[in-house]
Amino acid sequence: MIDLKNLRQELIESGLTTQEAEEKLKQFGKNELPEGRKETLLQKFINQFKNFLIIILIFASIISAFFGEFVDSIVILAIVILNAILGVIQEQRAENALEKVKKLTSPTSTVLRDGKITKIPSNEIVPSDILLLEAGDKVQADGIVVKEVSLFVDESMLTGESVPVKKNSCLGEITEDCKVYMGTTVVKGKARVLVTETGINTQLGKIATKISETKKEKTPLEVQLDNIGKLLGILFLIVSAIIFMLGWLRGGKILDMLLTSVSLAVAAIPEGLPAVVTIVLAIGVFEMAKRNAVIRNLPAVETLGAVTYICTDKTGTLTQNKMKIVAVFEDGKINSELNISERLKRAMILCNDAEKDRGDPTEIALIDFIDDKEIREVRSKFERISEIPFTSESKRMTTIHKFGNEYLVVSKGASEVILELSKFAKIDSKIVELSIEKKQELLKIVEENAAKGLRILAFADKIIPNLHEATEENLVFLGFVMMKDPLRMEVKDAIDKCRSAGIRPVMITGDHPITAYAIAKELDFPEGEVLTSSDLENISDDELTKIVENVSIFARINPLDKLRIVEALQKKNEVVAMTGDGVNDAPALKKADIGVSMGLTGTEVAKEASDMVLLDDNFATLVSAVFQGRTIFENIRKFIVYLLSCNIAEVMIMFFALLLGYPPPLLPLHLLWLNLVTDSFPALALGMEKGEEDLMKKPPRRKKEPILTRYHYGIIITQSIAITLSTLLGFILSYKRTGNLDEARTIAYMVLVISELLRAYSGRSFEGYLFKIGVFSNMFMNFSFVFGIILLLATIYVPQLRFIFKNTLPTVLESLDILLLAFIPFVISEVSKIIRKDEYGR
Ligand code: ATP
Repeated sequence: MIDLKNLRQELIESGLTTQEAEEKLKQFGKNELPEGRKETLLQKFINQFKNFLIIILIFASIISAFFGEFVDSIVILAIVILNAILGVIQEQRAENALEKVKKLTSPTSTVLRDGKITKIPSNEIVPSDILLLEAGDKVQADGIVVKEVSLFVDESMLTGESVPVKKNSCLGEITEDCKVYMGTTVVKGKARVLVTETGINTQLGKIATKISETKKEKTPLEVQLDNIGKLLGILFLIVSAIIFMLGWLRGGKILDMLLTSVSLAVAAIPEGLPAVVTIVLAIGVFEMAKRNAVIRNLPAVETLGAVTYICTDKTGTLTQNKMKIVAVFEDGKINSELNISERLKRAMILCNDAEKDRGDPTEIALIDFIDDKEIREVRSKFERISEIPFTSESKRMTTIHKFGNEYLVVSKGASEVILELSKFAKIDSKIVELSIEKKQELLKIVEENAAKGLRILAFADKIIPNLHEATEENLVFLGFVMMKDPLRMEVKDAIDKCRSAGIRPVMITGDHPITAYAIAKELDFPEGEVLTSSDLENISDDELTKIVENVSIFARINPLDKLRIVEALQKKNEVVAMTGDGVNDAPALKKADIGVSMGLTGTEVAKEASDMVLLDDNFATLVSAVFQGRTIFENIRKFIVYLLSCNIAEVMIMFFALLLGYPPPLLPLHLLWLNLVTDSFPALALGMEKGEEDLMKKPPRRKKEPILTRYHYGIIITQSIAITLSTLLGFILSYKRTGNLDEARTIAYMVLVISELLRAYSGRSFEGYLFKIGVFSNMFMNFSFVFGIILLLATIYVPQLRFIFKNTLPTVLESLDILLLAFIPFVISEVSKIIRKDEYGR
């Protein structure tokens, strides 16, 4: 128990020293909750065998060993084990990629260490740390409040009670209303908290240890693929069973035919499909993270590609958030020399939480040009005794200071808000009453300057004899400070990309409508209406839904209105990405199809509510994330189309050969080896394909569009038929000519492997022929190809392997035939790219 009376005052003022913190970290351990149990490598390996077909295969090969087929049996087992190892490696890769991404989003906290305000990873918080909290923070440890300004905390995740609770500072006795708990969020105000418990000792930790087993949920894509996989699985099983029957009836040995048909099923059933999709998603997500867009949950990647609307903040996202004062309006005049009266300057210094090197950029700009000594002197002469913090709803901030026997109230904020609170104005050092006409005149000045894209803050103050009058009214208007926030250069290009990609950008800002309009114009935003929160108050949800698609700018918006905007757009079937940074943005971020939070300026609450975090707060990063999202989705389609066309071909080859009265053209070993060569690496390589430029010249994928459309099934059908025909042709012609089954099988096997590897190359783009996208531009594909060819040639030219696979050495003429036949499906695929048009004209 912490004895507050004996608590070192200096601890509250300057926090722990780094050394103390290090010692405590050793003593108490990291501030982490236990994670769900992870699978060990061995468990993962064993899981690979929890497959009905694999078990039958192993069983059948063991039986065949009893009948003397030792070599076959051992090689089959070896291939099955190799496949399992490959599966484990892939899973491990996916997990590692995800783990790295998770680290990028791990929360940080602000603490006092060595007297300095320091940001640390939240897992390094130790007991006795002094935690600084403000609106939007997630409390990352249990503690007691030692100082606070109108602190309200949302404890719903612990208590289920959704009304925020007021917390006070502990004065002596520690009561419930001065304790804060890990996992709760600060919705309002600020506080200094003395950490009492961390990690599993916190209230949350005690609950979490009981429910640490986490279940992984499947993404909608995985569900779709599971269904496709199951359907094909059943179909292939039936065909395999028919093949078994046919082969047996035609005089094949039962055991041989069993091995053959089970191997075929193992090779053809795409049981690994969902896993490969997860890997590709995870690797894609990691690539995106390298480009500053961190996806917090995998399904978001799919949705990204379907985004039709991007609702974006202005400050920091479209602009650089590097404010600089360019002019001041005071005493009826504008001056750009920054000759500022003492009184206005005092207001700028006092009604301000920033230091020159830290804080809100708007507030930093207000003191940046003032001498450090002057700032210190003013702040110590006018001691701040109370404040009403800035919120995006009130659009103002007020501080109350004591000097001598009097008090000073200073407010700053949006121009119309401050003018509304002002009864007087300071003009040429005289205080005059502020008439309605005068206010109109001042607002006109605001509009004129806002049209230059400037951000304008108004200041007012009043001196009062006692605290009863410390209200935000009857203020004396002091002047306007006008700031420039430079645009981000890359945004214009990104807006352009949105236009060609069929995505509409919409600006949602707390700033003045005219400032917003000027900036939108400069950035080439699509033309459209401008609406403000007060406009929104006067229209119903239905009316908003009717007009929402024509609005380009929502200005002077309260964060809670963002939710209405998202809902209206969604009613119009739009897929909405919405950015946000504050606590009150959280509902809209949750509701949006893609909630996007800001890595630099975003609160923990906003980050937690979002699907994606922009590490650099940049709109252009968001647009390139959409491109990445489209790329990943398209790549997933590419390898599914590839895998299915190959696998269906394999089944058809076996089926039609037997139907036509021939023996099986491929042996079990051929099938399993083929599965090893073509299923894993080339498929993954397709998943790594770089995005095609054309992707951002097409409209977004429709929301409900399935992973495979008629267009894709068309490709699968033509390609599987082409591969089947080539292989069967090679097999039948050779068998007829030589009567040598092994020779014919070798040819079938080689044609099939090579044509599948070539299929992978052609499958790198649905529409761009290979020479256009660059034959060798996917290194991973080149490696897979070479690796595949080596594995193929090894089974032909290494005598021992040739013997095991019952292959023969092809003659020169046969080799030419093989190449010719293998190239036929490839040529058909490339030529049809030119002829075929996507059913949607894309
Ligand atoms: P965006 O929503 O695009 O980020 P914004 O930064 O202008 O734009 P808010 O932060 O909600 O949006 O600010 C709304 C308005 O409140 C601003 O236009 C400004 O007039 C006023 N304002 C901003 N910061 C402060 C502050 N620190 N103190 C007082 N008033 C402020």
